[in-house]
Amino acid sequence: MNIINQATNSSWRLLARKIADKQAYGFTHQNIKFYQNSFNIFVGLNAVDNQQNVAQTFKILHSFGLTCARMGAFKPRTNPYSFQGLGAECLPYVFELAGNYGIKIIAMEITHDSQLDTISEILHKYNNPTSVMLQVGTRNAQNFELLKAVGAQTRFPVLYKRGYGITMEESLSACEYIAHAGNHKIVFCLRGMKSQYASPHRNLVDFAQVPVIKRLTKMPVCVDPSHAIGNNDADLDNIPDIFHATAQGIIAGANMLLVDIHPQPNKSLVDAKQAISLDNLGWYLEDIAICREAYERRCNVTR
Ligand code: PEP
Ligand code: MN
Repeated sequence: MNIINQATNSSWRLLARKIADKQAYGFTHQNIKFYQNSFNIFVGLNAVDNQQNVAQTFKILHSFGLTCARMGAFKPRTNPYSFQGLGAECLPYVFELAGNYGIKIIAMEITHDSQLDTISEILHKYNNPTSVMLQVGTRNAQNFELLKAVGAQTRFPVLYKRGYGITMEESLSACEYIAHAGNHKIVFCLRGMKSQYASPHRNLVDFAQVPVIKRLTKMPVCVDPSHAIGNNDADLDNIPDIFHATAQGIIAGANMLLVDIHPQPNKSLVDAKQAISLDNLGWYLEDIAICREAYERRCNVTR
């Protein structure tokens, strides 16, 4: 089925944009705007490993004026013997430290709807020092009960990661489940597609589809270059492929960036190869600013 035709029919009756409609849609959470014309940076730990690393990460984010982060507590792992994430036990210090360092929103994956209550209860217990954007991971892209659960609450927005082995139509229908259940605060995240042709990258970068999602739907779009590229290899100018993919997403109009960093990347317990070291954050943020400025200039060219 033609995706453009489908966007205007009844499949995505809540999330589809009407063809001539040029409005930038979105929502506000914790006084931070998530719109199809705004831009927010979420960097942080793929998987929380200890309190020191969480504190060190938040501290450096704060020093650069960042107020959003990513922190993984519930990890969906391919193998049952791999580190599964610290789960609820790390949430008290993650939330308290976030509050101490002015982090207002943490992107955090949940793998089961019971984790929604766990997060709410622990936030409440510590007087809501921060808030969460609930991440639905690519492996749960068609977990319809989880989609309904994150949609049935409106306290937290949802970061929906495109399914890595399903069509765009199917991922958009999955998002419609969230909206249909009642929550319209959804950011759609591109994170690369599983393909043998991606090699030597981890996934095939799909950031050329940033404008597609913005054109077809009312959702702001996030890109995750860490999971798309999956390694820290760099080019002849020493610019890592992750930086290049970041640039591609931003210059195409991405509204949010989700990136793995770690105080000691090689010690990271999940996806160590793709974590950027804290020492490179300043350079990375400068590169990001150049790209966003270039995107804004592209929008304003007289035509
Ligand atoms: C993650 O962001 O930690 C993650 C597991 O991502 P994805 O679902 O895109 O693989
Ligand atoms: Mn991962």
